[in-house]
Amino acid sequence: MGFVGYTDVIAEGDTAIVYLGYNAMMHLKLCHGALTQTKRGGLRHSDIIGKKYGCRISTLSDKGYVYLLQPTPELWTLNLRHRTQILYFADISFITLQLELKPGSVVVESGTGSGSVSHAFARTIAPDGHLHTFEFHEQRAEKAREDFKDHGISHLVTVTHRDVLENGFGIDLSVDAVFLDLPCPWRALPHARKILKTSGGKICSFSPCIEQVQRTSEDLRSLGFTDVSTFECLQRNYENRTVVLPYPTLGKKPGAESTSQLAQDAVAKDAGSLNDTKSGDRQGASTDCGETQEKSETDPDGADVSFEASEAKKPRLCESEKKENKLHYPIKCAVPWKEMPGHTGYLTFGTLYLLPNESGV
Ligand code: SAH
Repeated sequence: MGFVGYTDVIAEGDTAIVYLGYNAMMHLKLCHGALTQTKRGGLRHSDIIGKKYGCRISTLSDKGYVYLLQPTPELWTLNLRHRTQILYFADISFITLQLELKPGSVVVESGTGSGSVSHAFARTIAPDGHLHTFEFHEQRAEKAREDFKDHGISHLVTVTHRDVLENGFGIDLSVDAVFLDLPCPWRALPHARKILKTSGGKICSFSPCIEQVQRTSEDLRSLGFTDVSTFECLQRNYENRTVVLPYPTLGKKPGAESTSQLAQDAVAKDAGSLNDTKSGDRQGASTDCGETQEKSETDPDGADVSFEASEAKKPRLCESEKKENKLHYPIKCAVPWKEMPGHTGYLTFGTLYLLPNESGV
């Protein structure tokens, strides 16, 4: 299974991601003899076991099919059952980088929650690092332990049921990094400081409220942490799609020549002389090295779209515009989503550097 590595063939006991269509996925733990219903029809697990990850498989309903994807921490984050609020890609990737996690790192996390961050950490620190994750909600700790076992990463993760604010981490280790995602994180800082390596140990605390950030930052400084800094990760998603736009008239008034003729000329120009820098009106003029230089244009929805000159080589008349004899062309563009994921929380980081015999407080 693919949580920390790649495997080709789907085996019994694997967790596969079933891709049902755009924005529709689910996870499936495979077990001979089992049958799972999906909105595309039933899936017999025995039909899946032994197939290759990435394959398309028919469901039991007429014409229904799904794709079977290799599970990864990214796909797990999108498909896991939420036992708590979870962190997503933007925050997780930034945390991983800022904590300088790499194969072999030893990391402490609390709380475990739904295990979204834990799966990503486990893959980063594999094959010989370790994640110690602490959760004070007993059932959540147990469920997380089961997930890690099912996903073949339990050798990389130790789950401990513990209240770290009251009792600390209770481990006698010098760890590379600590990640906190719990209420009152400042109460965990003295405990974290005890287990962090003093030669650049990294800490990160995720907090939804700025008041928590203030308190955490103050306490980090008074505990001797340096490089105390706070970030908010906001993700801006774009959809890559093809839209059809009318060909530009190049500023000429229709009349002397038909709009269609102007467009045809422009298309010929784009196709034949992409290096012609005199065609200043043209959107997306090519550069000397033959690459396209993108300019911004507004699509009918009011969104910014970019135009690639190479696409202008493929003009065509749209059905709706044929009567007016206007030339349109399809372009590939990236359009920002109308609704964006917003504020999740603030990430406050600190680093622990202490000289021998220096307490830092
Ligand atoms: N980062 C996780 C979500 C964590 S939600 C994810 O992406 O999946 C916060 C978790 O912290 C909850 O499960 C909660 O039970 C746990 N928690 C809260 N206080 C705690 C404490 N004092 N000690 C340990 N865990 C705690």
